[in-house]
Amino acid sequence: MMSSFLKFGISCLIFLVFGYPSFAGSWKAGRSAIVITPTQSTWMSGYGSRDRPSEGKRTELWCKAVVIEDSTGRQGVIITLDLVGIGRKLSTGICRKIAEKHSIQRNQIILNTSHTHTGPIVGGNLNTMYFIDEGNWERVAEYAAFLEGKVLETVEGAFSDMQPADLSSGFGFETFAVNRRNNRESSVPALRKQGELNGPVDYRIPVLKVANPMGKPIAVIFGYACHATVLSDYLWSGDYPGYAQIELENRFDDCVALFMAGCGADVNPLPRRSAELARNYGKRLADAVQLTLEGVMEPLDPVLAVSYTEIPLKFHALPDVKQLQEQSESENRFIAARGKSLLSTLEHQGKLDDSYPYPIGVWQLGNSVLWITLGGEVVVDYSIKFRKLFGEMTWTSGYSHDVMAYIPSSRVWKEGGYEGETAMIYYGLPNKWSSVVEAVITDKVSQMVDSIRNSQD
Ligand SMILES: [Zn+2]
Repeated sequence: MMSSFLKFGISCLIFLVFGYPSFAGSWKAGRSAIVITPTQSTWMSGYGSRDRPSEGKRTELWCKAVVIEDSTGRQGVIITLDLVGIGRKLSTGICRKIAEKHSIQRNQIILNTSHTHTGPIVGGNLNTMYFIDEGNWERVAEYAAFLEGKVLETVEGAFSDMQPADLSSGFGFETFAVNRRNNRESSVPALRKQGELNGPVDYRIPVLKVANPMGKPIAVIFGYACHATVLSDYLWSGDYPGYAQIELENRFDDCVALFMAGCGADVNPLPRRSAELARNYGKRLADAVQLTLEGVMEPLDPVLAVSYTEIPLKFHALPDVKQLQEQSESENRFIAARGKSLLSTLEHQGKLDDSYPYPIGVWQLGNSVLWITLGGEVVVDYSIKFRKLFGEMTWTSGYSHDVMAYIPSSRVWKEGGYEGETAMIYYGLPNKWSSVVEAVITDKVSQMVDSIRNSQD
């Protein structure tokens, strides 16, 4: 008869050779994190007013990835980046390589940027916002190549970390987000004190906990709908989302924290402009996430459904050659840069595109969590509306897949201003979106939600 000591030894050997035993009917998950802080001084993104490249760092910038796998073996890859945004060309190339390498489809990948305004310019993103020399553009191109390698490496790390896991979801609450279109920045402290802040905001913090079978979190994914614009100086930092992630990783041993930017295109963290405030907002967010993690969370059955599409999102109208020539001679350097860029596109392509291939993802986790991921800088109306339409367990992330422009609601489109119209200049796009932008996106999201829910019946 085999001694119990020998049995224990064989069990250990099996464990070492084959890893954790697989539990039928459960999730598996893996996670990984890699630093993506530029290794040389590079031009920073988010503000067109900077006059020199970066001068050091306050925090590292990170690429993080979580791979989840349901009980049927269907996998989903979530990637977060402490960056202002990522353009279509770079994002598409990265997703294609991930899909090929790991034998998955595009609809199994979510990519999200935190929108920190103290990160580097990324490839051609916001290309008409910067006036920098050739040497600086070369460093931007080098960073894009470096970034692609790092993202692929991070995803690889998450795939090689797969282990049995439990997923659960909950929501926290934090109030430093302020609608920036409806409150003068300098008046915010007084308005807040009087309870008179105006305009829609979404204070909810969606939280996804990935725990090992002992209940210990190995990854936490959380979101907030608010610009990462506390800081605007020349030091690399993840802004308040970066500090929130650092705080959570300090509090939970061997846990990777990932921030998903929400629909905060018209929302700012106010007041702002000091490192102390960035750290403070990060800590407050981490406190709210920790409370959620330690409270009652809804366990998610190990069922993952995924979908992804790109719809032709139309522009209002296209400028003709004469208008573009006039624009290229504008005294406003941003309008002039866009005019020249579009004239060059016209010359090379023979025409301008009258729409943009707008990315939308819809995932369902378990029977309850609906996760909508939208491209671009999406205003807060969308997350509020989708929760009303699809239920309380709906989580809408903006800044996902690629960031090509602001995405106004009908209300913001009609009001106009930066998020409704003029921000298009900095993204090098020919005009504002068509007036039906909200209806077109809502219809497509609704169709995708219907079909994902029907597939679960
Ligand atoms: Zn923005």
